[in-house]
Amino acid sequence: QSILLSVRNLRTEFQTQRGSVKVVDGVSFDVGRGKIVGLVGESGSGKSVTALSLMGLVASPQGKVSADSIMLNGTDLTRLNAEELRRNRGRQLSMVFQEPMTSLNPVRTMVQQVGEPLSIHTNLGRRAIRDKVLHMFETVGIPEPAARLDVYPHQLSGGLRQRAMIAMGLICEPKLLIADEPTTALDVTTQAQILRLMMALRDRVGTAIVMITHDLGIIAEMCDEVNVMYAGQIVEQANVFDLFDRPSHPYTRGLLASIPKATEKRSAERMNSIPGVVPNLAKLPTGCRFNPRCGDAMPICRVQQPELTDLGNGHKARCWLHDKQGGKL
Ligand code: SF4
Ligand code: MG
Repeated sequence: QSILLSVRNLRTEFQTQRGSVKVVDGVSFDVGRGKIVGLVGESGSGKSVTALSLMGLVASPQGKVSADSIMLNGTDLTRLNAEELRRNRGRQLSMVFQEPMTSLNPVRTMVQQVGEPLSIHTNLGRRAIRDKVLHMFETVGIPEPAARLDVYPHQLSGGLRQRAMIAMGLICEPKLLIADEPTTALDVTTQAQILRLMMALRDRVGTAIVMITHDLGIIAEMCDEVNVMYAGQIVEQANVFDLFDRPSHPYTRGLLASIPKATEKRSAERMNSIPGVVPNLAKLPTGCRFNPRCGDAMPICRVQQPELTDLGNGHKARCWLHDKQGGKL
């Protein structure tokens, strides 16, 4: 499999009044060309900040991003200057956010906003940009696309706004689309339509997707590979079959146990069926970060942090249950 994005040891810290907090702490993962890779975890696990860090959207100076390397399509983004980085990211990477209303400007028309990446990153004129936006609106299944070009965001339904945001994300034909909870604000039917649309685009255009979600149901439906995040770290990494077949980290098992039945409403609250809460990153427990919530915790778990250990077939877990050094204390 050919690798499009390879992230090694990504770290993102924020300066707060009570010192610095590592929100992303040593995250490494790969995305193959045309693959859909999930980042899953409760809110506060660091998945959105991981995405923002890759996009170069972490605000400095409070936020500081570093990595051993971030190889995107053969280029190490950590070695580029700000201008090179901006151009590189603009053409190869784009992002779709959860709530389009907050990322859309209410006083600019759809064609102005959705076409904006083209005016920044290409030499196309207004006419050509308009044609391209119209074409993208068709591609993402917006009905009567010509009639939606000159309207304002509030004149569209939530589902159409999210489709328009996906059109905007794809308009420069990026190799990679990062989607952060793209359907969480939508009703179940629209959610299913948007997810199908994203999978169809992957099949047709070959865009790889990093899918950020708290919902393992979405992961099961869409993803090839999965990274489970907890308290700023990846705690389990596997292809989607192995993850659901042999979940190896107690946190992943807890997430799986909390998947709602088809008849129940998907919502963030369901995740709370794992007892306890995500730890305060400024006051992490010693040892394994999951130990205060873990039913399998052993003495060593409260003392020493486990490493991400390979269980074979690229399946990795950060847990003393699977580390040969474990259980000795
Ligand atoms: Fe639980 Fe220990 Fe594994 Fe952490 S290392 S998940 S506390 S068993
Ligand atoms: Mg988030």
